[in-house]
Amino acid sequence: MSKCKQCESDIPGDFPGVLVSAATPSHCPGCGTPYPWREEAIARAEKTARMQAEIHALDQATRDELLAFTERVAVDGATSEEAATFGQWFLKKAGPEAAGSVGGMLKEIASSVIAAVIQKTMMGS
Ligand SMILES: [Zn+2]
Repeated sequence: MSKCKQCESDIPGDFPGVLVSAATPSHCPGCGTPYPWREEAIARAEKTARMQAEIHALDQATRDELLAFTERVAVDGATSEEAATFGQWFLKKAGPEAAGSVGGMLKEIASSVIAAVIQKTMMGS
């Protein structure tokens, strides 16, 4: 796939095997449609967030916030300020063990800027 199925803009770069990484564009620069591999990444992130919530026995409010934030990170919609606030809040609410593993999950889907904020606020370095 080298063109957007929506507007037929060229997809920047070449991504054989549709590998999701920080270098992979998430949305079509032409029309803003999320690319299919991004939709998969979002679905995977949501599933992981749900499992993390269960493992760490998070209450419903914390779980809802985590899912909402995960979705925003997955679509590159989170700002670093939002990530910092979420990180501090989650660490306080769920404790360092849960914050460490949730942070690791979020870092995999986050942009490098957001990943650095998550590392600092949730994983303590
Ligand atoms: Zn497009």
